[in-house]
Amino acid sequence: MSEEPKSGGPVSDAFIADLAAASRILAARGVVDAFGHVSQRHPDAPDRYFMCRAKAPALATPEDIIEYDLDSNAVNAEGRGSFLERFIHGEIYKARPDLNSVVHSHSPSVIPFGLVDCKIEAMFHNAAFLAAGVPVFDISEKYGPTDMLVSDGDKGETFAECLGDKDIALMRAHGSVACGSSLQLAVFRAVFTEVNSRIQHWTMDLAGNKPIASLDEEEGRLADVPNNGACLRAWDLWRREVRAETNW
Ligand SMILES: [Zn+2]
Repeated sequence: MSEEPKSGGPVSDAFIADLAAASRILAARGVVDAFGHVSQRHPDAPDRYFMCRAKAPALATPEDIIEYDLDSNAVNAEGRGSFLERFIHGEIYKARPDLNSVVHSHSPSVIPFGLVDCKIEAMFHNAAFLAAGVPVFDISEKYGPTDMLVSDGDKGETFAECLGDKDIALMRAHGSVACGSSLQLAVFRAVFTEVNSRIQHWTMDLAGNKPIASLDEEEGRLADVPNNGACLRAWDLWRREVRAETNW
């Protein structure tokens, strides 16, 4: 058995508790169900990140949080299982030093936009970040028929290339990934990508053949600035709900 990589050093209990809470927050908002995961880069060691062991996100606790290197080898698994698709996270952290948190989900309203040639657009200001454009990753383009999972470093790297300089990407017949410079921003983006997708389905039904007046790129850029603060207000509310049901 290969030796485990070294830890990037200790982090606070609050950091670990917030990351565990993020799993429960995403589950409560319908972004993740029995599957899906959220990670956060180590605050002092950019070549390490943390995520929950393989379990349903609604049940995450601080004791479930595992540290990984960017090849997604566990530092301190101690018998705890890892998510098969953790490579999504490690390879994004390698490619994008500006990102510190990643959410991967199979949230249902988003998936149709990866199946049909119909772009996801920013329907309202809370989802302004979508106006920058959302790439769609089709795993079959490079790998042919697969189980659809990003389950090794090579597939993770190919996904990160598709993400490019964007903060969100769809995965054909699978799900999506939302990222941010902070845990709070990545969670906010994952939640509002799902909400926006729901609104876009309603809007398209209503619109028929009429054009949809979604945010353009410039409006998206401007409207995303207040989201950096708004995401903290949302986080305070959602974090409080987890505190009320746990003792952390
Ligand atoms: Zn997945």
